[in-house]
Amino acid sequence: MPIIKTLAESPAAASVAGTALAAGAAWYLYKRLTDKVTIPKSVNYHYTRKCNAECGFCFHTELSSHHEKLPNAFTALRLLKEAGMEKVNFAGGEPFLYPKHLGKMCKFAKEELKLESVSIVSNGTKVTEKWLREYGVYVDILAVSCDSFIAATNEKIGRKDRGNGKAFDNMKQLFQVRDWCAELGIKFKLNTVVCKLNWEEDMVESLKALAPSRWKVFQVLVVAGENENDERLRNARNFTITDEEFKHFCDKHKSIPNFVPEDNAHMAASYLILDEYLRFLDAGVSKEKTSGSIVEIGVQRALKQINWDETKFVAKGGLYDWSKKSATEGCGGGVSGIDAKELEF
Ligand code: SF4
Repeated sequence: MPIIKTLAESPAAASVAGTALAAGAAWYLYKRLTDKVTIPKSVNYHYTRKCNAECGFCFHTELSSHHEKLPNAFTALRLLKEAGMEKVNFAGGEPFLYPKHLGKMCKFAKEELKLESVSIVSNGTKVTEKWLREYGVYVDILAVSCDSFIAATNEKIGRKDRGNGKAFDNMKQLFQVRDWCAELGIKFKLNTVVCKLNWEEDMVESLKALAPSRWKVFQVLVVAGENENDERLRNARNFTITDEEFKHFCDKHKSIPNFVPEDNAHMAASYLILDEYLRFLDAGVSKEKTSGSIVEIGVQRALKQINWDETKFVAKGGLYDWSKKSATEGCGGGVSGIDAKELEF
């Protein structure tokens, strides 16, 4: 019997699973605080900064057009795996601007490195059925960003094609990508940034219809060195909202299953980011800085050069059910089959 069914029918079993997870998280934190090494369990590899959109609050702007050649990217991924990485998230910019490169990295991460989880964060506009049929087998989660279901709002935010200036028709594309993911056994996630232009929007019906496996909702974030003033490529200060406004949006949508809100306090410095030059990025609220390349100086030395709040990462639910095998197989591992939100510590 699939574990999800067993747990649903047995509160006692669900309670034991919950206790085991809590104990696992406590042990993980204890080990990390007492050992000298840091384990980069989950890494966001922003391998390109190029994007086809121009969101006004973008926090990873097009400061360069560089992306590493595949052999170097593979070396970096292997080093991270050896250092304890279990999940890699390929992000941008827009990762699907280089579909072959992205596909080969997913394949390497899954087939060669046997990572537990391979995920991608995309604006969704360049995802194709052909790509998913070829490389989807190596992908656990596909997260698509969507800040509004209203074309005019998307246009004002900058979620429009840089080439022709047309706002993204995200409704059609979101449902299409969601259906492809369902067919191919990939978890479909949605990411939304709440800002001045959408904090009053009611997305309940659209979200109910889309039914993502996880809906991450972020408060728009100002990152020094990326989007903090008019001298940068983007100025997120034109889009910021108060904590009360963020709460207003969250209260309106909290009934949506798998809703995971994340305010500024939880976001800052809690993500481990590898940039396009294979350097960790210290993207907290203070001035952004980078480590040396992990290929040149190694993962541990690079980690020591930046500020990454590992306790915040665990506390905000950074360790969750991130592999698709649980969704498709229903059993076969300690926590498989449990809804992602239940696994947040
Ligand atoms: S989709 Fe928008 S937020 Fe995402 S990388 Fe492109 S410009 Fe930045």
